[in-house]
Amino acid sequence: MTAPRLEIDLDKIYHNARTLVERLARRGISVTGVTKASLGSLDIANTLLRAGVHALGDSRVENIEAMRGGHVAAPMMLIRSPMLSQADRVVRQADTSFNTELAVINRLSCAARDVNRMHNIVLMVELGDLREGIMPADLKEVVRAVLRMPNIHLSGIGANLACHGGVSPDADNMSELSALADSVEAFFGVSLELVSGGNSANLDWALSGVDTGRINNLRLGEAILLGCEPLHRQPIKGLYTDAITLVAEVIEAKVKPARPWGTIAQTAFGEAAVVDCGGDMSRAILAIGHQDVDPSGLQAPCGIRILGASGDHLIIHSDSLHQAAGAEVRFGLNYSALVRAMTSPFVAKVIRDG
Ligand SMILES: *Cc1c(COP(=O)(O)O)cnc(C)c1O
Repeated sequence: MTAPRLEIDLDKIYHNARTLVERLARRGISVTGVTKASLGSLDIANTLLRAGVHALGDSRVENIEAMRGGHVAAPMMLIRSPMLSQADRVVRQADTSFNTELAVINRLSCAARDVNRMHNIVLMVELGDLREGIMPADLKEVVRAVLRMPNIHLSGIGANLACHGGVSPDADNMSELSALADSVEAFFGVSLELVSGGNSANLDWALSGVDTGRINNLRLGEAILLGCEPLHRQPIKGLYTDAITLVAEVIEAKVKPARPWGTIAQTAFGEAAVVDCGGDMSRAILAIGHQDVDPSGLQAPCGIRILGASGDHLIIHSDSLHQAAGAEVRFGLNYSALVRAMTSPFVAKVIRDG
């Protein structure tokens, strides 16, 4: 079979998504299935919908266009603030977009009026992680302006944590979001359908049994695809962590000295690899590198150690297995490795379903 390749097990993705949808439903929380890591794959999008996610979310309008083009039947949310330059495409393709800038919402309003549509807006609020969000003190002023804009419907507010500052979702910041929802509703006499608390990093909080307040939605990507929570990168109980694996092929296998020789300087990707032993060792090279994957995010199988990587080569050591040219090695992936492999045209995507 072709290599390198990502093997994608749709049954495992279905199980992960369904399990999270059910666990969160008991807390009154719906799931937006986040498709950005899978580049709008139609198979994965349709699997998430079968598993009961209420909408699909993606950070890139190109992926939403791909899913629309493939007749994926779901409400689509652009979960990154739209670029001004893409406002027309956003209004045509997405039912909802997440926003923090009035200039952008204004442009969305004009674009929506041009095509005689309503466009839904979720206003993102800054709760301390310092990525996207309107400062809480400025929220009322923004809501006031948004409510006056033609062809725009304010459908909710949201927040995103654990993506830049490493701030964990907790009872304090989530109650703050709930309180903001209450105060916007009371002040303007509107009702907010969606209070979207965050991403996979919110799962510990949401399932811990605390009062989840007004939060009625989470946007989940990593937890569904990798079965892991991102705060401590621990497996989530009852989920598969191997729904997606990466297979690469050996192109050289030799016994060579463990230590390089000659004058040591930097390599193409920074510092030279650290060597902790002398003597000879069995080494193999796989035909995959930084251009295809984040090598630091690969989990090697038992008995295999990753020694280093360059643009097109991954160098491994194995004690037990005898690797020969043509042999295949299978790896687990973290989010960073997954995103890069999904994006590489050199990595085939092979769907498995039962
Ligand atoms: C990527 C992203 C998500 C999903 O994050 P995961 O950790 O993959 O669950 C949710 N919300 C926003 C705004 C995002 O950018």
